[in-house]
Amino acid sequence: MLRTDKPLKEHGKPDSAEPRIIPRAAHTVSRKAISDSALKVLYRLDKAGYQAFLVGGCVRDALLDLHPKDFDVATDATPDEVRALFSNCRLIGRRFRLAHVRFGREIIEVATFRAAANHEDDDVAHDDEGRILRDNVYGTIEEDVWRRDFTCNALYYNIADYSIWDYVGGAGDIDRRKLVLIGDADQRVREDPVRMLRAVRFAAKLGFTMDEPVDAAIRENASLLTNVPAARLFDEFLKLFQGGQAEATFDLLREYGLFEQLFPATEQEFLIDEDFRNFIRAALQNTDRRVADGKSVTPMFLLGVFLWAPVCRIAAMRREEEKMTDSQSLALAAYEVAADQQRRVSIPKRFTVPMREMMALQPRFYATQGRRAMNLLEHRRFRAAYDFMMLLAEIGRVDPDIAAFWTEVQSMSSDQRMQRFQVQAKARKRRRRRKRKSASSG
Ligand code: ATP
Ligand code: MG
Repeated sequence: MLRTDKPLKEHGKPDSAEPRIIPRAAHTVSRKAISDSALKVLYRLDKAGYQAFLVGGCVRDALLDLHPKDFDVATDATPDEVRALFSNCRLIGRRFRLAHVRFGREIIEVATFRAAANHEDDDVAHDDEGRILRDNVYGTIEEDVWRRDFTCNALYYNIADYSIWDYVGGAGDIDRRKLVLIGDADQRVREDPVRMLRAVRFAAKLGFTMDEPVDAAIRENASLLTNVPAARLFDEFLKLFQGGQAEATFDLLREYGLFEQLFPATEQEFLIDEDFRNFIRAALQNTDRRVADGKSVTPMFLLGVFLWAPVCRIAAMRREEEKMTDSQSLALAAYEVAADQQRRVSIPKRFTVPMREMMALQPRFYATQGRRAMNLLEHRRFRAAYDFMMLLAEIGRVDPDIAAFWTEVQSMSSDQRMQRFQVQAKARKRRRRRKRKSASSG
């Protein structure tokens, strides 16, 4: 934590180009919290005569005693100058070039200081091209700071003397656990509506409260999320729901009217079906538990959960229109609902395809006899489909006997399984099938 002995200037306002410099003795960011690779990059830049700072989430998290996962470096060296210093360096990005310095599996991102977007013509802030062009200007650290979103994300850790440079009162806001947007909250949200999702994510993750103007700006501008390209929202979706605070995030998103922007079909169902919200809550708790235990989570599972009620509704309609099995109608409906969802949050095929399979398998849990039922255990989506079915059982949408059956059979030997599914040994079955065939052809 920080000792904030100096009086704080009015924060979040570009009132001074002078940073408050917090010396090493007055803050708790130790080099032990910084990855060796990041330190190497910082020291080498420093030695070559450039300014070298850690910036963003890693400084914030280190101050909060959370373990930073990735380290971002900011410098006055240009990307080409950075590349000249590191052989293990690649430049990425066409419009704005960043240097990636690779150490085994770890990548340290090195960004040259950039000037903030020009706020004068904010009416055209959603013109993508214009926004990026305006952003694509190198600058000084004094300029770099104003393009960042929250004060807690705008602290610079200086490798030259291990001090922290604070231009915007971020250190005090971290102490107060306040999420404050730099500059005019309404303007900053309008110029990049994704900041609303970032606000919710940080509030949930860090346990911060929203500064009043941030709170008001989100309530006012929630609908602007529709202007954000769906591709960009998929990344945000992952960060929102796979960071270990999915349930708290969900509550905040709904409170601010942001969830309906991301998943309109899901939000619609909440009005009709109380259980569905509990189903989602159970899934989010489950996801948070898995993340806490260091287990893997897949976005296709949560997507399936979010879209389940809309899919069931469409599937029932399709079954009425045409003769289809339950599985067929679910697969078709899942396809339709996912296609519709893509307009808000684009979901790569590698997730929608397994999601559809997982949904289409649900009716098969009701058959508990015969070889086809037994083979379900070997299906590549069995595990996910089973977890999904257990969640449905949790809210009373699947018979508890069925849930117990499928839990039990998983730990059985193959002989026991055959008995349980009333499956005959293979040899006998083959003979019988042959007999039936000759009977029907004769
Ligand atoms: P985490 O890594 O925990 O998600 P982070 O704060 O590091 O949090 P990143 O997305 O890694 O978030 O971004 C790094 C930094 O870049 C941020 O701390 C912030 O200063 C700046 N930043 C990122 N996205 C935006 C944005 N949409 N608007 C303004 N600044 C941003
Ligand atoms: Mg980060």
